[in-house]
Amino acid sequence: MTVRVRVAPSPTGDPHVGTAYVALFNRTWARRNGGQFLLRIEDTDRVRSNAESEKMIFESLRWLGLTWDEGPDIGGPCGPYRQSERVAIYLEHAKSLVASGAAYYCTCTAERLEGVRKAQDAAKLSPRYDRRCRDLPASEVQKQIDAGAKWVIRMKVPAEGECRFRDVVRGEVVFAWDQIDDQVLLKSDGWPTYHLANVVDDRLMGITHVIRAEEWISSTPKHIRLYEAFGWTPPVWCHVPLLRNKDRSKISKRKNPTSLNWYRDQGYLPEAMVNFLALMGFSMPGGVEVFGPADMDREFSIEKINAGGPVFDLQKLDWMNGQYLRKLSPDELATRLGPFGAAGHDAATVRRIVPLIQDRLRVLSDWTELTAFFFGDLAAPDPALLAGKKQTPAQVRDLLSRARPVLAAAEWTDAALEASLREVAAAAGVKPGDLFMPLRVAVTGRTNTPPLTATLEVLGRDRSLARVDAALACLA
Ligand code: GLU
Repeated sequence: MTVRVRVAPSPTGDPHVGTAYVALFNRTWARRNGGQFLLRIEDTDRVRSNAESEKMIFESLRWLGLTWDEGPDIGGPCGPYRQSERVAIYLEHAKSLVASGAAYYCTCTAERLEGVRKAQDAAKLSPRYDRRCRDLPASEVQKQIDAGAKWVIRMKVPAEGECRFRDVVRGEVVFAWDQIDDQVLLKSDGWPTYHLANVVDDRLMGITHVIRAEEWISSTPKHIRLYEAFGWTPPVWCHVPLLRNKDRSKISKRKNPTSLNWYRDQGYLPEAMVNFLALMGFSMPGGVEVFGPADMDREFSIEKINAGGPVFDLQKLDWMNGQYLRKLSPDELATRLGPFGAAGHDAATVRRIVPLIQDRLRVLSDWTELTAFFFGDLAAPDPALLAGKKQTPAQVRDLLSRARPVLAAAEWTDAALEASLREVAAAAGVKPGDLFMPLRVAVTGRTNTPPLTATLEVLGRDRSLARVDAALACLA
Protein backbone atom coordinates (compact mmCIF):
# COMPACT_ATOMS: atom_id res chain seq x y z
CA MET A 1 0.00 0.00 0.00
CA THR A 2 1.38 3.39 -0.95
CA VAL A 3 0.99 5.89 1.84
CA ARG A 4 -1.01 8.91 0.70
CA VAL A 5 -1.65 11.73 3.11
CA ARG A 6 -2.90 15.27 2.85
CA VAL A 7 -3.28 18.58 4.53
CA ALA A 8 -6.63 20.16 3.80
CA PRO A 9 -6.73 23.77 4.93
CA SER A 10 -9.66 26.08 4.43
CA PRO A 11 -8.53 29.30 2.75
CA THR A 12 -9.97 31.75 5.23
CA GLY A 13 -7.84 34.42 6.85
CA ASP A 14 -4.12 34.24 7.41
CA PRO A 15 -2.21 30.98 7.00
CA HIS A 16 -2.22 29.32 10.41
CA VAL A 17 0.71 27.78 12.30
CA GLY A 18 -1.53 24.76 12.91
CA THR A 19 -1.70 24.14 9.17
CA ALA A 20 2.08 24.02 8.96
CA TYR A 21 2.26 21.76 12.00
CA VAL A 22 -0.17 19.24 10.51
CA ALA A 23 1.42 19.56 7.06
CA LEU A 24 4.81 18.75 8.57
CA PHE A 25 3.67 15.49 10.13
CA ASN A 26 1.80 14.46 7.01
CA ARG A 27 4.65 15.27 4.72
CA THR A 28 7.18 13.51 6.91
CA TRP A 29 5.00 10.42 7.09
CA ALA A 30 4.73 10.37 3.29
CA ARG A 31 8.48 10.71 2.86
CA ARG A 32 9.28 8.14 5.47
CA ASN A 33 7.12 5.66 3.58
CA GLY A 34 7.98 6.68 0.06
CA GLY A 35 4.42 7.92 -0.36
CA GLN A 36 2.74 11.11 -1.49
CA PHE A 37 1.71 14.26 0.32
CA LEU A 38 -1.26 16.18 -1.10
CA LEU A 39 -2.47 19.68 -0.57
CA ARG A 40 -6.22 20.01 -0.87
CA ILE A 41 -7.99 23.31 -0.56
CA GLU A 42 -11.27 22.97 1.33
CA ASP A 43 -13.05 26.07 0.13
CA THR A 44 -16.67 25.02 0.48
CA ASP A 45 -17.39 27.89 2.83
CA ARG A 46 -18.25 30.32 0.06
CA VAL A 47 -18.52 33.33 2.32
CA ARG A 48 -15.22 33.00 4.12
CA SER A 49 -13.00 31.38 1.50
CA ASN A 50 -10.91 33.63 -0.70
CA ALA A 51 -8.19 33.43 -3.28
CA GLU A 52 -5.80 35.67 -1.37
CA SER A 53 -5.89 33.35 1.59
CA GLU A 54 -5.26 30.34 -0.65
CA LYS A 55 -2.27 32.09 -2.17
CA MET A 56 -0.88 32.76 1.29
CA ILE A 57 -1.24 29.07 2.20
CA PHE A 58 0.82 28.11 -0.84
CA GLU A 59 3.43 30.74 -0.10
CA SER A 60 3.81 30.03 3.57
CA LEU A 61 4.04 26.26 3.19
CA ARG A 62 6.61 26.75 0.44
CA TRP A 63 8.51 29.20 2.61
CA LEU A 64 8.75 26.41 5.19
CA GLY A 65 9.82 23.90 2.57
CA LEU A 66 6.65 21.87 3.19
CA THR A 67 6.03 21.25 -0.49
CA TRP A 68 3.41 18.88 -1.84
CA ASP A 69 3.38 16.20 -4.51
CA GLU A 70 -0.14 16.94 -5.72
CA GLY A 71 -2.19 20.06 -5.28
CA PRO A 72 -4.37 22.72 -6.88
CA ASP A 73 -1.45 24.64 -8.33
CA ILE A 74 0.55 21.67 -9.62
CA GLY A 75 -2.21 19.19 -10.44
CA GLY A 76 -1.94 15.44 -10.09
CA PRO A 77 -3.83 12.26 -10.95
CA CYS A 78 -6.73 12.86 -8.53
CA GLY A 79 -7.54 16.48 -9.25
CA PRO A 80 -9.01 18.95 -9.11
CA TYR A 81 -7.62 19.56 -5.63
CA ARG A 82 -9.83 22.53 -4.86
CA GLN A 83 -13.21 21.52 -3.49
CA SER A 84 -15.07 24.37 -5.16
CA GLU A 85 -14.20 22.68 -8.46
CA ARG A 86 -15.65 19.35 -7.35
CA VAL A 87 -19.17 20.34 -6.40
CA ALA A 88 -20.82 18.02 -8.92
CA ILE A 89 -18.96 15.05 -7.42
CA TYR A 90 -20.37 15.73 -3.97
CA LEU A 91 -23.90 16.19 -5.27
CA GLU A 92 -23.74 12.85 -7.02
CA HIS A 93 -22.40 11.14 -3.90
CA ALA A 94 -25.00 12.72 -1.63
CA LYS A 95 -27.76 11.55 -3.97
CA SER A 96 -26.37 8.04 -3.99
CA LEU A 97 -26.65 7.98 -0.21
CA VAL A 98 -30.27 9.03 -0.43
CA ALA A 99 -30.85 6.27 -2.96
CA SER A 100 -29.30 3.67 -0.67
CA GLY A 101 -31.28 4.91 2.34
CA ALA A 102 -28.25 6.21 4.27
CA ALA A 103 -29.30 9.84 3.88
CA TYR A 104 -32.51 11.77 3.34
CA TYR A 105 -33.92 15.03 2.03
CA CYS A 106 -34.88 17.49 4.70
CA THR A 107 -37.15 20.43 3.92
CA CYS A 108 -37.30 21.99 7.37
CA THR A 109 -37.17 25.77 7.19
CA ALA A 110 -34.73 27.91 9.12
CA GLU A 111 -37.66 29.15 11.24
CA ARG A 112 -38.71 25.64 12.15
CA LEU A 113 -35.13 24.66 13.06
CA GLU A 114 -34.85 27.78 15.18
CA GLY A 115 -38.03 26.81 17.02
CA VAL A 116 -36.70 23.30 17.65
CA ARG A 117 -33.45 24.74 18.95
CA LYS A 118 -35.23 27.09 21.34
CA ALA A 119 -37.41 24.32 22.72
CA GLN A 120 -34.35 22.13 23.27
CA ASP A 121 -32.59 25.00 24.93
CA ALA A 122 -35.51 25.52 27.30
CA ALA A 123 -35.56 21.80 28.11
CA LYS A 124 -31.78 21.91 28.67
CA LEU A 125 -31.19 19.42 25.85
CA SER A 126 -28.21 19.71 23.55
CA PRO A 127 -29.24 21.30 20.25
CA ARG A 128 -29.73 18.96 17.32
CA TYR A 129 -32.04 18.25 14.45
CA ASP A 130 -35.19 16.47 15.68
CA ARG A 131 -35.26 14.16 12.64
CA ARG A 132 -38.72 15.15 11.53
CA CYS A 133 -37.99 14.61 7.83
CA ARG A 134 -36.16 11.35 8.52
CA ASP A 135 -39.35 9.97 10.03
CA LEU A 136 -41.73 11.31 7.37
CA PRO A 137 -42.58 9.06 4.44
CA ALA A 138 -40.22 9.86 1.56
CA SER A 139 -43.22 10.53 -0.71
CA GLU A 140 -44.38 13.26 1.64
CA VAL A 141 -41.00 15.01 1.53
CA GLN A 142 -40.87 14.59 -2.25
CA LYS A 143 -44.23 16.29 -2.52
CA GLN A 144 -42.89 19.31 -0.64
CA ILE A 145 -39.84 19.44 -2.87
CA ASP A 146 -42.00 19.24 -5.98
CA ALA A 147 -44.01 22.15 -4.60
CA GLY A 148 -40.82 24.16 -4.47
CA ALA A 149 -39.64 23.66 -0.88
CA LYS A 150 -35.92 24.17 -0.33
CA TRP A 151 -34.08 21.05 0.74
CA VAL A 152 -30.83 19.80 2.18
CA ILE A 153 -29.53 16.26 2.42
CA ARG A 154 -28.85 14.91 5.90
CA MET A 155 -27.08 11.72 6.88
CA LYS A 156 -28.83 9.13 8.99
CA VAL A 157 -26.88 8.65 12.15
CA PRO A 158 -27.71 5.53 14.18
CA ALA A 159 -30.14 6.32 16.96
CA GLU A 160 -28.32 4.20 19.51
CA GLY A 161 -25.17 2.23 20.16
CA GLU A 162 -21.59 3.38 19.96
CA CYS A 163 -19.05 4.34 17.38
CA ARG A 164 -15.70 2.82 18.28
CA PHE A 165 -12.54 3.43 16.38
CA ARG A 166 -8.82 3.28 16.85
CA ASP A 167 -6.81 6.43 16.74
CA VAL A 168 -3.05 6.10 16.40
CA VAL A 169 -2.35 8.77 19.01
CA ARG A 170 -5.25 8.21 21.39
CA GLY A 171 -5.93 4.49 21.19
CA GLU A 172 -9.53 3.38 21.27
CA VAL A 173 -12.05 6.21 21.02
CA VAL A 174 -15.73 5.76 21.76
CA PHE A 175 -18.62 8.08 20.95
CA ALA A 176 -22.27 7.32 21.73
CA TRP A 177 -24.31 7.68 18.54
CA ASP A 178 -27.07 9.44 20.41
CA GLN A 179 -24.68 12.34 20.95
CA ILE A 180 -24.33 12.87 17.23
CA ASP A 181 -26.58 14.92 15.02
CA ASP A 182 -28.04 13.98 11.65
CA GLN A 183 -25.44 16.06 9.92
CA VAL A 184 -26.29 18.10 6.83
CA LEU A 185 -24.21 16.72 3.98
CA LEU A 186 -25.43 18.88 1.15
CA LYS A 187 -26.68 22.42 1.66
CA SER A 188 -29.65 24.02 -0.05
CA ASP A 189 -27.37 25.75 -2.57
CA GLY A 190 -26.13 22.35 -3.70
CA TRP A 191 -22.75 22.74 -2.02
CA PRO A 192 -21.41 20.11 0.37
CA THR A 193 -20.58 20.56 4.01
CA TYR A 194 -17.07 19.86 5.24
CA HIS A 195 -17.96 16.30 6.29
CA LEU A 196 -19.21 15.06 2.95
CA ALA A 197 -16.57 16.77 0.84
CA ASN A 198 -13.78 15.70 3.16
CA VAL A 199 -14.73 12.03 3.18
CA VAL A 200 -15.49 11.80 -0.53
CA ASP A 201 -12.20 13.48 -1.39
CA ASP A 202 -10.13 11.44 1.02
CA ARG A 203 -11.55 8.36 -0.64
CA LEU A 204 -11.24 9.52 -4.24
CA MET A 205 -7.75 10.83 -3.62
CA GLY A 206 -6.66 7.52 -2.11
CA ILE A 207 -5.80 8.90 1.32
CA THR A 208 -4.52 6.10 3.55
CA HIS A 209 -3.88 8.03 6.76
CA VAL A 210 -5.86 11.00 8.00
CA ILE A 211 -3.39 12.92 10.12
CA ARG A 212 -5.15 16.03 11.34
CA ALA A 213 -5.71 18.21 14.38
CA GLU A 214 -7.41 16.80 17.44
CA GLU A 215 -10.29 19.25 17.09
CA TRP A 216 -11.69 17.07 14.30
CA ILE A 217 -11.93 13.94 16.39
CA SER A 218 -15.56 14.57 17.26
CA SER A 219 -16.33 14.66 13.52
CA THR A 220 -14.73 11.29 12.99
CA PRO A 221 -17.84 9.20 13.90
CA LYS A 222 -19.75 11.03 11.17
CA HIS A 223 -16.95 10.31 8.77
CA ILE A 224 -16.81 6.66 9.75
CA ARG A 225 -20.55 6.42 9.24
CA LEU A 226 -20.13 7.89 5.77
CA TYR A 227 -17.40 5.42 4.89
CA GLU A 228 -19.74 2.62 5.98
CA ALA A 229 -22.66 4.03 4.05
CA PHE A 230 -20.59 4.25 0.88
CA GLY A 231 -19.22 0.77 1.49
CA TRP A 232 -15.64 2.04 1.74
CA THR A 233 -12.86 1.10 4.15
CA PRO A 234 -11.92 4.03 6.37
CA PRO A 235 -8.34 5.32 6.48
CA VAL A 236 -6.09 5.14 9.53
CA TRP A 237 -7.04 7.91 11.96
CA CYS A 238 -4.38 9.95 13.62
CA HIS A 239 -5.43 13.05 15.53
CA VAL A 240 -2.48 15.15 16.57
CA PRO A 241 -2.71 17.21 19.74
CA LEU A 242 -3.61 20.85 19.34
CA LEU A 243 -1.03 23.55 19.77
CA ARG A 244 -1.79 25.42 22.96
CA ASN A 245 -1.25 28.79 24.55
CA LYS A 246 0.74 28.87 27.79
CA ASP A 247 -2.50 28.56 29.79
CA ARG A 248 -3.17 25.38 27.80
CA SER A 249 -6.14 26.79 25.89
CA LYS A 250 -6.20 26.13 22.14
CA ILE A 251 -3.69 28.39 20.41
CA SER A 252 -5.36 31.69 19.65
CA LYS A 253 -4.54 35.02 18.16
CA ARG A 254 -5.19 36.81 21.41
CA LYS A 255 -2.39 34.98 23.20
CA ASN A 256 0.06 34.04 20.47
CA PRO A 257 0.64 35.15 16.93
CA THR A 258 -0.94 32.37 14.83
CA SER A 259 -0.25 33.65 11.34
CA LEU A 260 2.70 32.15 9.52
CA ASN A 261 3.07 35.54 7.82
CA TRP A 262 3.90 37.09 11.16
CA TYR A 263 6.72 34.62 11.79
CA ARG A 264 8.11 35.13 8.30
CA ASP A 265 7.93 38.91 8.61
CA GLN A 266 9.60 38.89 11.99
CA GLY A 267 12.47 36.99 10.46
CA TYR A 268 12.17 33.59 12.00
CA LEU A 269 14.12 31.22 9.79
CA PRO A 270 11.92 28.65 8.10
CA GLU A 271 14.20 25.81 9.15
CA ALA A 272 13.96 26.93 12.80
CA MET A 273 10.21 27.18 12.55
CA VAL A 274 9.92 23.66 11.13
CA ASN A 275 12.23 22.25 13.79
CA PHE A 276 10.23 24.01 16.48
CA LEU A 277 6.92 22.71 15.12
CA ALA A 278 8.36 19.20 14.91
CA LEU A 279 9.29 19.37 18.60
CA MET A 280 5.70 20.24 19.44
CA GLY A 281 4.57 16.71 18.66
CA PHE A 282 7.64 14.56 18.36
CA SER A 283 10.83 13.78 20.27
CA MET A 284 14.02 12.56 18.66
CA PRO A 285 15.88 9.65 20.22
CA GLY A 286 18.19 10.90 22.96
CA GLY A 287 16.17 14.07 23.33
CA VAL A 288 18.09 15.85 20.56
CA GLU A 289 16.30 19.13 20.00
CA VAL A 290 17.96 20.63 16.98
CA PHE A 291 17.36 18.47 13.95
CA GLY A 292 16.50 18.88 10.29
CA PRO A 293 13.91 17.40 7.97
CA ALA A 294 16.22 14.57 6.88
CA ASP A 295 16.69 13.44 10.51
CA MET A 296 12.99 13.62 11.05
CA ASP A 297 12.22 11.68 7.86
CA ARG A 298 14.44 8.93 9.24
CA GLU A 299 13.13 8.79 12.80
CA PHE A 300 9.52 9.94 12.67
CA SER A 301 6.58 7.64 12.94
CA ILE A 302 2.95 8.48 13.61
CA GLU A 303 3.06 6.06 16.55
CA LYS A 304 5.68 8.34 18.10
CA ILE A 305 3.51 11.47 18.09
CA ASN A 306 3.27 12.73 21.66
CA ALA A 307 -0.27 12.78 22.98
CA GLY A 308 0.24 15.70 25.39
CA GLY A 309 -1.01 19.12 24.28
CA PRO A 310 2.15 20.94 23.26
CA VAL A 311 2.59 24.51 24.47
CA PHE A 312 3.57 26.92 21.73
CA ASP A 313 6.28 28.73 23.61
CA LEU A 314 7.70 31.75 21.81
CA GLN A 315 10.76 31.83 24.06
CA LYS A 316 11.60 28.35 22.94
CA LEU A 317 11.11 29.40 19.34
CA ASP A 318 13.46 32.34 19.89
CA TRP A 319 16.02 29.95 21.29
CA MET A 320 15.56 27.64 18.32
CA ASN A 321 15.87 30.53 15.89
CA GLY A 322 19.11 31.51 17.60
CA GLN A 323 20.47 28.01 17.08
CA TYR A 324 19.88 28.27 13.35
CA LEU A 325 20.98 31.89 13.00
CA ARG A 326 24.35 31.09 14.59
CA LYS A 327 24.85 28.15 12.25
CA LEU A 328 24.56 30.22 9.06
CA SER A 329 27.71 31.28 7.28
CA PRO A 330 28.13 35.07 7.33
CA ASP A 331 27.52 35.19 3.57
CA GLU A 332 24.32 33.22 3.91
CA LEU A 333 23.18 35.35 6.83
CA ALA A 334 23.89 38.51 4.83
CA THR A 335 21.69 37.14 2.04
CA ARG A 336 18.88 36.28 4.46
CA LEU A 337 19.09 39.75 5.96
CA GLY A 338 18.63 41.32 2.54
CA PRO A 339 14.84 41.65 2.70
CA PHE A 340 15.06 42.89 6.28
CA GLY A 341 16.89 46.07 5.35
CA ALA A 342 20.39 44.88 4.57
CA ALA A 343 19.75 44.94 0.82
CA GLY A 344 19.50 48.72 0.95
CA HIS A 345 23.15 49.11 1.96
CA ASP A 346 26.55 48.59 0.43
CA ALA A 347 27.07 44.82 0.30
CA ALA A 348 30.69 44.93 1.46
CA THR A 349 29.76 46.96 4.55
CA VAL A 350 26.89 44.63 5.32
CA ARG A 351 29.24 41.68 5.03
CA ARG A 352 31.64 43.28 7.53
CA ILE A 353 28.83 43.99 10.00
CA VAL A 354 27.21 40.59 9.84
CA PRO A 355 29.80 38.71 11.94
CA LEU A 356 29.51 41.45 14.58
CA ILE A 357 25.80 40.99 15.06
CA GLN A 358 25.35 37.31 14.32
CA ASP A 359 25.35 36.39 18.02
CA ARG A 360 23.00 39.21 18.91
CA LEU A 361 20.19 38.60 16.45
CA ARG A 362 17.03 37.05 17.82
CA VAL A 363 15.15 37.40 14.55
CA LEU A 364 16.23 38.81 11.19
CA SER A 365 14.13 41.92 11.66
CA ASP A 366 16.41 42.93 14.56
CA TRP A 367 18.84 43.99 11.86
CA THR A 368 17.66 47.58 11.53
CA GLU A 369 17.67 48.33 15.21
CA LEU A 370 21.01 46.63 15.85
CA THR A 371 22.83 48.28 12.97
CA ALA A 372 21.23 51.71 12.49
CA PHE A 373 24.25 53.49 13.97
CA PHE A 374 26.50 52.06 11.27
CA PHE A 375 24.50 53.80 8.59
CA GLY A 376 22.61 56.92 9.57
CA ASP A 377 23.73 60.03 11.40
CA LEU A 378 23.68 59.85 15.16
CA ALA A 379 21.65 62.20 17.28
CA ALA A 380 23.75 64.19 19.77
CA PRO A 381 24.67 61.78 22.56
CA ASP A 382 22.92 61.99 25.90
CA PRO A 383 25.48 63.24 28.51
CA ALA A 384 23.83 61.12 31.22
CA LEU A 385 24.24 58.00 29.08
CA LEU A 386 27.85 58.95 28.28
CA ALA A 387 28.73 59.34 31.94
CA GLY A 388 26.79 56.30 33.09
CA LYS A 389 26.18 55.72 36.76
CA LYS A 390 29.74 55.47 37.97
CA GLN A 391 31.49 58.41 36.37
CA THR A 392 31.06 62.15 36.25
CA PRO A 393 30.79 64.06 32.95
CA ALA A 394 34.17 65.62 33.73
CA GLN A 395 35.83 62.23 34.12
CA VAL A 396 34.34 61.02 30.86
CA ARG A 397 35.40 64.18 29.14
CA ASP A 398 38.94 63.61 30.33
CA LEU A 399 38.97 60.01 29.12
CA LEU A 400 37.54 60.80 25.70
CA SER A 401 40.00 63.68 25.32
CA ARG A 402 42.85 61.27 25.99
CA ALA A 403 41.44 58.73 23.54
CA ARG A 404 40.86 61.18 20.73
CA PRO A 405 44.49 61.78 19.60
CA VAL A 406 45.22 58.09 19.96
CA LEU A 407 42.28 57.25 17.70
CA ALA A 408 43.46 59.87 15.26
CA ALA A 409 46.85 58.17 14.98
CA ALA A 410 46.18 54.45 15.57
CA GLU A 411 46.38 51.78 12.98
CA TRP A 412 42.66 51.26 12.14
CA THR A 413 42.24 47.60 12.88
CA ASP A 414 40.26 45.87 15.58
CA ALA A 415 43.36 44.49 17.32
CA ALA A 416 45.45 47.65 17.12
CA LEU A 417 42.54 49.80 18.34
CA GLU A 418 41.95 47.48 21.24
CA ALA A 419 45.62 47.60 22.30
CA SER A 420 45.83 51.39 21.96
CA LEU A 421 42.66 52.04 23.90
CA ARG A 422 43.74 49.74 26.70
CA GLU A 423 46.93 51.77 26.98
CA VAL A 424 44.88 54.96 27.21
CA ALA A 425 42.83 53.47 30.06
CA ALA A 426 45.93 52.23 31.86
CA ALA A 427 47.63 55.61 31.55
CA ALA A 428 44.52 57.28 32.97
CA GLY A 429 44.46 54.80 35.84
CA VAL A 430 41.02 53.38 34.99
CA LYS A 431 39.75 49.97 34.00
CA PRO A 432 39.38 49.45 30.24
CA GLY A 433 35.59 49.31 30.62
CA ASP A 434 35.55 52.80 32.12
CA LEU A 435 36.84 54.12 28.83
CA PHE A 436 35.19 51.64 26.49
CA MET A 437 31.65 52.29 27.71
CA PRO A 438 31.55 56.06 27.18
CA LEU A 439 33.41 55.65 23.90
CA ARG A 440 30.83 53.08 22.84
CA VAL A 441 28.00 55.47 23.69
CA ALA A 442 29.81 58.26 21.85
CA VAL A 443 30.20 56.32 18.60
CA THR A 444 26.98 54.26 18.61
CA GLY A 445 24.55 56.13 20.86
CA ARG A 446 23.91 52.95 22.84
CA THR A 447 25.33 50.92 25.68
CA ASN A 448 24.67 47.58 24.12
CA THR A 449 26.56 46.92 20.90
CA PRO A 450 28.92 44.46 19.28
CA PRO A 451 32.52 44.60 20.61
CA LEU A 452 33.69 48.20 20.56
CA THR A 453 36.90 48.02 18.60
CA ALA A 454 35.42 45.78 15.91
CA THR A 455 32.61 48.31 15.65
CA LEU A 456 35.09 51.18 15.33
CA GLU A 457 36.91 49.32 12.61
CA VAL A 458 33.73 49.10 10.52
CA LEU A 459 32.65 52.67 11.29
CA GLY A 460 35.96 54.03 10.06
CA ARG A 461 38.23 56.67 11.48
CA ASP A 462 36.53 59.80 10.20
CA ARG A 463 33.07 58.97 11.42
CA SER A 464 34.37 57.68 14.73
CA LEU A 465 36.35 60.85 15.38
CA ALA A 466 33.45 63.07 14.39
CA ARG A 467 31.24 61.24 16.89
CA VAL A 468 33.85 61.52 19.65
CA ASP A 469 34.02 65.25 18.95
CA ALA A 470 30.24 65.54 19.13
CA ALA A 471 30.30 63.74 22.49
CA LEU A 472 33.04 65.99 23.82
CA ALA A 473 30.99 69.02 22.78
CA CYS A 474 28.04 67.65 24.77
CA LEU A 475 30.19 67.22 27.84
CA ALA A 476 31.71 70.70 27.70
N1 GLU B 1 -10.69 21.80 6.24
C1 GLU B 1 -10.30 21.26 7.50
C2 GLU B 1 -9.35 22.27 8.14
O1 GLU B 1 -9.47 23.39 7.82
C3 GLU B 1 -9.67 19.91 7.30
C4 GLU B 1 -9.74 19.03 8.48
C5 GLU B 1 -9.26 17.65 8.10
O2 GLU B 1 -8.05 17.51 7.91
O3 GLU B 1 -10.07 16.76 7.94
O4 GLU B 1 -8.51 21.98 8.93
